[in-house]
Amino acid sequence: MEDVAQRLQAVWQKLHAMPEPAFREVKTAAYLAAALKKAGYQVTEQVAGTGVVGVLDSGKPGPVAALRTDMDCLLFKQPDGSMRGVHACGHDAHMAMVLVAAERLAAAGIPCGKVKIICQPAEEIGQGALAMMKAGALDDVDYLFGQHVMPLSMAKSGEIIPCVQWTACTLISASLTGQAAHASQPHLGISALDAGTAVVNAINALHTDPLLGGSVKTTKFLSGTTLNIIPAKAELGFDLRSTSNKEMEKLRARVMSTVKAVAAAYGVQAETRIEGTCPASEYDQSLVELARTAIREEVGEAGLLPAKATTVGEDFNFYPLQLPRLKTAFLGLGCDLGPGLHDPEMHFQHEDMVHGCNVLFRLIQKALVL
Ligand SMILES: [Zn+2]
Ligand SMILES: [Zn+2]
Repeated sequence: MEDVAQRLQAVWQKLHAMPEPAFREVKTAAYLAAALKKAGYQVTEQVAGTGVVGVLDSGKPGPVAALRTDMDCLLFKQPDGSMRGVHACGHDAHMAMVLVAAERLAAAGIPCGKVKIICQPAEEIGQGALAMMKAGALDDVDYLFGQHVMPLSMAKSGEIIPCVQWTACTLISASLTGQAAHASQPHLGISALDAGTAVVNAINALHTDPLLGGSVKTTKFLSGTTLNIIPAKAELGFDLRSTSNKEMEKLRARVMSTVKAVAAAYGVQAETRIEGTCPASEYDQSLVELARTAIREEVGEAGLLPAKATTVGEDFNFYPLQLPRLKTAFLGLGCDLGPGLHDPEMHFQHEDMVHGCNVLFRLIQKALVL
């Protein structure tokens, strides 16, 4: 146990000291690839850019059970205007737990099938999972497990969530174009600002199914530059959330048709664009049950939390959605994390990485003999 804790801390320290943002995880990838090779994995580098895939083959037939870690950091603007990378979402801890679990699986040996280690770039911009699948990294995988460190409000040190229900998210932007005019002659123009105001009110009146979690908000409204000109342009942005992928599809269509219809009522042209999407979680219940067993063995009944939902997005959810044959589960590690994820001052109890690593190690052993 002592050795595992020390190894986790050493790996974390190394990765924490070299934070790299989405698709630029070059040193991070080289470090993970070298460590996996040393542990006995066949390693493929530069998968989907900076991704790394490690394979441990038992030589015997059986399933392919995989662990996924994300690799990218977040960028924060400094007072001097420069950008500083910080592992404020705990992806350094995720990498440490997955790598050390991988090393221990290789050392212990696996009874059958293969273990696959998926080191995915660019989670923070929602593109890494899709890129890894496009590169074929998940084609032969049967079971895939992910894990995220959780804020204190969701799990304490010594507690683990077997099923983190991430929420679907869609970001939509809209450009409205009317007709500029001198403000003394408003009847000669078509105000994109007035149309935009009506759009905001109409969007605020859209309601999601109260039995499901969800929301639609206007998050951007820019219009007008000069006090005596009727503005011809307005730029709007919307953030949509839903716990259901089906509901999100409907919501997305309603937002886009509402923007167009309201703008048209004012004689204003509207262009809408989907700027980003992330699906809601759809896990395999047999793997979630397996996670419950592994957690119970590690932290006892008291540390096994119920499934918990969060309004945050996570690009892991693309995996089961794009590959319906792939079975997945996603755990949330309690580690007294404060003040919050995506806060540059984020800190957590490092000893809890031992629990996270042990659970991943056991999960793979259990999944291989399912
Ligand atoms: Zn994040
Ligand atoms: Zn994250």
